[in-house]
Amino acid sequence: MMINEIHGIYGHACPNCGGREEDLRLLMKLPCSRCLPKIPDKGRLSIDEIYEILKRSGRVKNYGRIYEFERKYREFEKLFRKATGSRPWSVQRTWARRVLMDKSFTIVAPTGIGKTLFGMIISLYQAWRHGKAYILTPTTPLTEQIYEKCSKYVPPPDVSCNHQYLLVPGICMM
Ligand SMILES: [Zn+2]
Repeated sequence: MMINEIHGIYGHACPNCGGREEDLRLLMKLPCSRCLPKIPDKGRLSIDEIYEILKRSGRVKNYGRIYEFERKYREFEKLFRKATGSRPWSVQRTWARRVLMDKSFTIVAPTGIGKTLFGMIISLYQAWRHGKAYILTPTTPLTEQIYEKCSKYVPPPDVSCNHQYLLVPGICMM
């Protein structure tokens, strides 16, 4: 269904200012008309384009956090692709978004679903970004296995790296 006229206006819905937002703009993922007065001819804009327009006009509010979150997520995905040769699959992308939103959560999933791989890559990302990460394992052989795999990964050139690996039984510290 293609909607090209306004059918509703919703309060507290603008992703930037939290003000009133028209349904047409919400469908195009654009901020409200006070934040972004003109709907671009091409309709949809990327998050980067919206952020740049808001920044140039001095109207960045909540959108700054959205932009920063997306930037971090893309960085994680780039690292994941570089380390594994493939894109994280949907559940790994969901887990990554939770971590990057600083949510604390538990992953319970069957063997082979990608928990350990995700745990290694997100730990490397956090270590490279924030200086440290811990991986707790139930056995020393598993710790050594994770340590060996993680040691092979190098950060992308635009990620500053200031880490070292420490290996003690049951804990791989990055
Ligand atoms: Zn707004």
